[in-house]
This record gives sequence, C-alpha cells and structure tokens, in this order.
Amino acid sequence: MAKYVIITGGVVSSLGKGIATASIGLLLKVRGFLVNPLKFDPYINVDPGTMNPYQHGEVFVTEDGAETDLDLGHYERFLDVNLSKDNNVTAGQVYLSVIEKEREGIFLGGTIQVVPHITNEIKERIRKIANDHDIILVEIGGTVGDIEGLPFLEAVRQLRLEEGKDNVLYVHLTLVPFIKSANEFKTKPTQHSVNELRRIGIQPDIILCRTERPLPKEAKEKIALFCNVTKEAVIEGIDTDNIYKIPLIFKEQNLDWLICQFLSLQTKEINQKIWQNWLDFVNKLENPKGEISIGIVGKYTSLRDAYKSVIEAITHACGYFSFRPKIKWIEATDLEEEVKKKGKEILEEYFADISGIIVPGGFGVRGIEGKIFACEYARENNLPFLGLCVGLQCAVIEFARNVLLLKDAHSQEFDPNTKNPVIHLLESQRGIKKKGGTMRLGAYPCLLKEGTIAYYAYQTKRVYERHRHRYEVNNQYVNLLEKNGMVISGFYEKEDLVEIIELKGHPFFLATQFHPEFKSRPLRPHPLFLKFIEACIQKS
Ligand code: GLN
Repeated sequence: MAKYVIITGGVVSSLGKGIATASIGLLLKVRGFLVNPLKFDPYINVDPGTMNPYQHGEVFVTEDGAETDLDLGHYERFLDVNLSKDNNVTAGQVYLSVIEKEREGIFLGGTIQVVPHITNEIKERIRKIANDHDIILVEIGGTVGDIEGLPFLEAVRQLRLEEGKDNVLYVHLTLVPFIKSANEFKTKPTQHSVNELRRIGIQPDIILCRTERPLPKEAKEKIALFCNVTKEAVIEGIDTDNIYKIPLIFKEQNLDWLICQFLSLQTKEINQKIWQNWLDFVNKLENPKGEISIGIVGKYTSLRDAYKSVIEAITHACGYFSFRPKIKWIEATDLEEEVKKKGKEILEEYFADISGIIVPGGFGVRGIEGKIFACEYARENNLPFLGLCVGLQCAVIEFARNVLLLKDAHSQEFDPNTKNPVIHLLESQRGIKKKGGTMRLGAYPCLLKEGTIAYYAYQTKRVYERHRHRYEVNNQYVNLLEKNGMVISGFYEKEDLVEIIELKGHPFFLATQFHPEFKSRPLRPHPLFLKFIEACIQKS
C-alpha cells in the first residue's frame, strides 16, 4: 500500500516547492522506494498550454504529450523517470470532470458541492497514481491562504483520515526572513502560515524553512514550539545557486530518515551508485575547470523560468565536462531593433564574447527577426549553434533568404501571405479553432541519417523526442535546401517531416523541430546538448 507525502507552501510563492519535492523524491528513491510525484495546480485552466510564459514560466511536455507545469521537469530530472498527464492535475481538470459526470447523470438527484464531490475527485486523482508505488509525493501549488487552494487542502486533510496517520505526512515549506536592521530572523510569518494550515485541520509534521543564511538553534526551537513540531522536524533550506545541492542539504539534516520514521517505513539500504553519481555531478559543477559562455536569444528573457529546461539541459552537459555555464540573455526584440537601427555590424558586439548560440522555442512574431539575425551570425561565423523548435524554423528561414535568395521566405505563422512559406501548416492543422491541446505534442520517433552530427551524437538510428508546435518545414523546399548545403539529419518517417537540420562544412550548426531539453537529466545529459557544449568548449 502506498504512503503519501503532502507538500504545501506558505508565506510567499517561489520558495522552490517543486525543487524541494523533487529533492525529497530523490532521497527516497536513493533509499530504495518507488516514488511517484503529483503536482496539483489550483488554477482553472485545464492545463498551462494556453498560458503566456510570463504568467507561468515554461510549459513542460511529457512523453504522452501533456502540457504541464514546469515542476514536472524538476521531478523528471531529479527522479530520472518519465511522467505522464496523470502527474499534473489542475483545478480546471477536476471541475471539468465533475461537471461532465453531472451532465452524464452520474450524481442524479444530488446537489454537486465542493465537499464531497470536488474533494472526492481530487482524492481519486491522488489514488490513481498510487498503483505499484511505495510513496506518492503530492505538491499543492500556490500558497496556503489562497482561495483556489482550499479544496485541495481539504482533500488532503481527508486523505489522512481515510488512509491512517502512519500513511500520510504533511511537509510545509515556509520563508524565514532575516531582517538586517534588527539583525534577527523572523519566525512570525511561519507561525501565521502554520496557523492557517491548522485552521483547516492540517498540522504539519515537518517544516522546511527557506532562509538566506544559517538558522540559529534558537530560531529553530521557536519554530518547533510555536508550530507544534519536534526540533528535528525543523529543516533548514538555505539559499543555494545550485539546485542539485538541495538533496545534499536535506540529507545532512536527516530529512529522508525523518520521513521514514513518520511513515513507519522500514528504511532500506542506500543506493550508493545513484547517490555517488549525484555527488560527483554536484562536485563537478562546484569545482569547474572553467566557464563557458552561451548566448540565448529569446523573447521571454526577462523571465528565466520560461527557459527552465533549456537552462538545466545546458547545466547537465556543462557538468559532464566539468564546466560552469555562463548564460548571456539576449532579448530578440532588442537585437532586431538594434540591427534595424545600426546595421548588422552590431551583431559582433552581441556575440563577440560567447562560445555558442541557442535559439529556444517560442510563439508569435515579436522578436522573430532578431532570432533570424542570430542564426545568420552563427552560420556565417562558424559559431556553434543549437536551434530548438522555432529555432529550427528561424534557421530554415534565414538559409532560404540568404543562401537560396528567396528574400521573402517566412513561416506562415509570422507572414500568412508569404510567397515562400518555407515553414507552413500541414493540412491536418489547418482550420483548427480549438487552441488547447491541439498542437503536435509529445514523443514522436525520429529516424537519423548515418554520418551526420545527430547520428554521431545519439549513436543510434531511431530516437523518440518530445514536440510542441503547429508549424513544420515545407517539404517543397527540402531538395533546394539540401542542394545548397543543408543536411536533413533526422526525419519523422510516417509523415515525412523534417526533425533535425545541420549545415555542411560548419563545425556545429544543428537545430531540432522537437525539444531535446525536456529529456536531459543530470546524470544522463542529452546527447545533442553534450555535442553542442563540446563544440562550444572547443571554440572558447
Ligand atoms: N511557433 C512555432 C510553431 O508553433 C514553434 C513552437 C515552439 O517553438 N515550441 O510551430
């Protein structure tokens, strides 16, 4: 029978609840338990797929094509597992299925209410993923006190009643601010947030305290006393610039042992292999041989969360080579305006101090010309280049305009009337009105061409990679592109679609229609990111 660890957050958002949950997951996995994480998002959207990255950061895509919260990326990376649509549930999904059941007549005669109908649905979603697992981690998005979060908290309160005290554990993550002028830590926000939880019937068992400096014994004792937990159950979560160190920080304070005690779990032997590999990875990042500077040209650069998986994939590959990544954020819109004002010479200023360029995924026309200029610069200056999804589309547009001399070449997404739609909508995507969940989503097979960089990187003929886009390379232009030096090194056989492009004679110019960043793991960096970073190191 599965046991449940419920993770809530208090005081403020953005304390790193997802990373804390993922870290707990890793520690329990290392102790030999089979862990399955679940993220609840209390918003009404059915999924984050239709949200602007500025609202919600990156949309993480699973193998089965679910558009999910970026915390699923942390779970996949820390636990090294592939998750599915069942691992991320929003309030929208919960309400939708209750309302659909009501329309079907399943509750005939009844009044449908938050308690018990919505809370039952929430508990059902938790139990659904419990099959064959030892421990289910349930992270509740948002902050305690949010109106939207209440049904979720009520449901997990009931869960302990139904599953038994030994089977459900509550972990609460809070902020313990240090007030410089008073030279003091303040525990009051934590007390208030725990009070709020208690008011709805949840007494946390473990409190994780996010803090910018080490918590003194007295502060921990005060939190224990006022929040009604044991002193050992007050765990310090000190700020760190390396998220992969957080499991180490927790383990030093015996958090995994404590969880096992609370849940009456027989602690198993530590899996030394995974743990040692994790320590080695952290150690390589902490003691790098050097630094490598990567330019990311995107349109959401003021919000780093929009590119979470890209940043992590870079970090994994850099860690492998024992280098520290230094990311230079280049706002595509600025680049576009600068070039238009001052000419292409300005590109030199942007890219002189970097060893490689990434153009990551994106939607909409804003900044697109800036990304295309970045592709041109990388192609002409032999600078390592990795294009991801729209990054591939920009590279094809640039090549068509400047090598094939089709000056008006564009994507139908950005110029629906272009005479040369080198990127276009497939028949199957035309006329789609419903925006949610209708792109090409999730894992598709990609066949690799022998003798290419892609084949050399993957060392295999067929790979499965995750997609999230509507537009595709227009096959009418493929012959012309190939004749002029573009290599189609990966394609989707069934529909004959371009998946990977490269450039003949360039040390490393590669772009993918899929998103390799979603499959990179700390201990298994993605082969294409490894080859890209290797090329950057050689260039530096
Ligand atoms: N906007 C492009 C499309 O829909 C690319 C999407 C992306 O980069 N994920 O095809």
